[in-house]
Amino acid sequence: MTKASMLHLTFQLTHSPPLSISQIYTMRLSLTVSALLASSAVAFVPPMPSTRQATHLASARIPDNVRKSLSADQLKTLEVAAEQASKAAAADLDPWFGEAEADDGSFASFSSLESMTGKPAAAGGTSGAQDFLEANPYFDQSNIPLNTYKNKEPHTGKIVSVKRIVGPKATGETCHIIIDHGGAMPYWEGQSYGVVPPGINPKNGKPNNVRLYSIASTRYGDDMKGQTASLCVRRATYWCPELKAEDPAKKGICSNYLCDAKPGDSVALAGPTGKVMLIPEKTPEADLIMVATGTGIAPYRTFVRRLFVEDTPARKAFKGLAWLFLGVANKDSLLYDDEWQEVKKAYPNNFRVDYALSREQENKKGGKMYIQDKMEEYADEIFDRLSKGAHIYFCGLKGMMPGIQDTLERVAQEKGIEWKDMLEGLKKNHQWHVEVY
Ligand code: FAD
Repeated sequence: MTKASMLHLTFQLTHSPPLSISQIYTMRLSLTVSALLASSAVAFVPPMPSTRQATHLASARIPDNVRKSLSADQLKTLEVAAEQASKAAAADLDPWFGEAEADDGSFASFSSLESMTGKPAAAGGTSGAQDFLEANPYFDQSNIPLNTYKNKEPHTGKIVSVKRIVGPKATGETCHIIIDHGGAMPYWEGQSYGVVPPGINPKNGKPNNVRLYSIASTRYGDDMKGQTASLCVRRATYWCPELKAEDPAKKGICSNYLCDAKPGDSVALAGPTGKVMLIPEKTPEADLIMVATGTGIAPYRTFVRRLFVEDTPARKAFKGLAWLFLGVANKDSLLYDDEWQEVKKAYPNNFRVDYALSREQENKKGGKMYIQDKMEEYADEIFDRLSKGAHIYFCGLKGMMPGIQDTLERVAQEKGIEWKDMLEGLKKNHQWHVEVY
């Protein structure tokens, strides 16, 4: 490739309005490639991405929407450039690259991820760095992706897999669903996607509305390539008191559509949305107390993978305690337990997990063990950590909040603390995060 053709490509790309994040990444790739191939073009290279990032991008698929916006000539030039960047980086004897190749493109650290993705995973913590989708600096949240695709003009993703992840005695069915977004819908940990189920709503004769789902994979996806998002979806069913049975006519539209989906099926995606559940990466020493009921676990899976599993700058910097409280009905209803246990084993000082199993455990008064009862057991420590800057997150069923708030208020009273003032302070300091549905 000549410098002139590279500059031509650069010119074309920089003037294609408006640029999506994927396009910007692709443009950066082309600029980096120009630096790799013609040292005289270095003046045009922006600070991002590094050679390593270019390699990742080179190995990634060029998203469909980017393809469409390029002429055949531009596309060919880009593909050639990407391949050359990949070769250049491989020839660089970068030990990281060798490792990346050796584990077949999967940078997952734990065996449970292996079962989820069906791909071999490397041993804990020794896999290649994952930093090709980072902001600069990595904790800068000022430009996170928001509403890249609107409900009325959704992106078409493809179902990669749908896997039931609860045991036979679970109350209801919950599935882990991996969706290929082709790199077109980047997102951050703690955000949600909208899913627009096909069909017409019989109640109003209009197309079905969008439903939101918290994303359960980090921005890199379960296979670490930045092309997929995973959802943790509970099938909504309707128990008819008259029939004393489930009424299939009243089952939830979108959750059943997703749990019944097959690999290769198309799925209309909107978003990503949400800024409430982001990780406070600017303060890596802050503790994170993560409280979930049921599928409310989804965002915390992204937190835990980002802070303990993937080799990101966020993981290197994190110095706090990540403490997970999960409330479900029974042991068979636990979600991602194998993943939590492996992280706990590897990081006993920085990760804790406590379960409230309402139908199997008793609280100290002999009643059912709800999430607030489990939290109350550790009330002194929770209050102490909050006073030292811990962030507390709540995600899951709306019904969990009144019980939790009452318990926290009672504990505060016992300690001579005015709960109203404390809550106000937590909200003001952005330590209080709630996303319930
Ligand atoms: P709908 O069709 O919307 O029905 C809702 C309920 O009404 C169902 O229980 C259904 O059985 C019942 N129903 C239907 N018809 C009748 C009738 N005639 N009479 C009485 N009842 C009836 N969910 C997850 O599973 N995982 C997540 O990670 C997740 N994240 C979320 C994040 C956010 C920010 C929000 C707002 C919601 C989230 N949800 C999540 C909830 C999700 O958006 C949906 O609300 C949920 O899946 C139910 O949608 P549905 O289309 O299946 O049910």
